[in-house]
Amino acid sequence: MGTTCLKIFFLFALFISIIFSRSPSVSAALITDIRFWSAPDHTRVVLDLTDQVQYEGSSLEKPPQYHLELKGVNLFTKKREMQVNDPYLSKIILSNIEKDKVKLIFHQKKPLNINVFLLNPYLDKPPRLVIDLVDLAQEKKEEEERQRQKEVRPKGTKTVALDPGHGGEDPGAMGPRKTMEKDIVLTIGEKLIRQFNQNKEIQAFLTRKGDYFIPLEQRIKIAREYGADIFISLHTDGSFNPQARGSSIYCISLSGATDEAARVLADKENMSNILGGASLRPASITKDPNLNQILLDLMQNNSMKESFRFAETFLKVIKTVNHLKFPSYRQANFIVLRAPDIPSTLVEIAYITNNGDERLLNQNDFQEKMAKAIFTSIKKYFQ
Ligand SMILES: [Zn+2]
Repeated sequence: MGTTCLKIFFLFALFISIIFSRSPSVSAALITDIRFWSAPDHTRVVLDLTDQVQYEGSSLEKPPQYHLELKGVNLFTKKREMQVNDPYLSKIILSNIEKDKVKLIFHQKKPLNINVFLLNPYLDKPPRLVIDLVDLAQEKKEEEERQRQKEVRPKGTKTVALDPGHGGEDPGAMGPRKTMEKDIVLTIGEKLIRQFNQNKEIQAFLTRKGDYFIPLEQRIKIAREYGADIFISLHTDGSFNPQARGSSIYCISLSGATDEAARVLADKENMSNILGGASLRPASITKDPNLNQILLDLMQNNSMKESFRFAETFLKVIKTVNHLKFPSYRQANFIVLRAPDIPSTLVEIAYITNNGDERLLNQNDFQEKMAKAIFTSIKKYFQ
């Protein structure tokens, strides 16, 4: 058989198989994966899809359940039941109730507020359907607890908000040995908290306490509720160039980046909202919408000056622990650094994409040293 005959034969075979196939129709999307992330006040469930789908949900009171029907889609994942067992969900049951129709039943442990939204494909992420099951009472409690921490702090005590970047759906940069930025920055953040707990004059809090996603604006809101005097966002850098290595520090710029590298980095870090799946309720960044603009500018000015002062202190300390990428701090428009009332900086601890740096980032000894260096910089800044 010649190649043309062969092609015709295969096309014919494909046509026949489509016509007589009892398997899912060609046009329907597929659910290729399902996963969940447990946050202190909600559970986020994410479905990976091959295409957009239509959905309709309804809540049941007794027993508390959420039923979600998806149209134009079939199950590709082998999972038919997923055990969750966090404070909010016991399990999720998946079934192909009929051709091109899938039903998900969320077995809740208590009544929850449900928020469902689709995320468009982005970079290596396929279309995703996000189901947030939120405990509104717990959300309020968390907020009140942060405000209580602010009110009970002894006079003269300073407060630091440490912000481990990324989390949940957004892993951040990834190392050659698959080390994820979100895990490393959380570990170093936890080590920092332990250092601060031994110190009476400075209180420290984490914006993120586990593997879940927090939108960038929400991180500022949390820091403000704690009454933070300084905000430090913790990250590890990533590059296509495996030779790139070292630590660097960034402050906000209100008028364009200091250099191209800083601009590219800010764009990458700002992508977190899209990768992690920010929901439709973004928190407001400014403290009070009625606040006088002149006052706001003054606050921003002062916060920026203070963030430069911290960055300079940090650079002097950090160079004793790791190679510096730049001898000075850089500036760009990072969303997470936009609080006008809190001096804010973003630290790239090392390059997770560099073999040597990745190895260091995984070492307990290096993590401790880094935490100690950041702790020392903060202490010096407040002196
Ligand atoms: Zn990052």
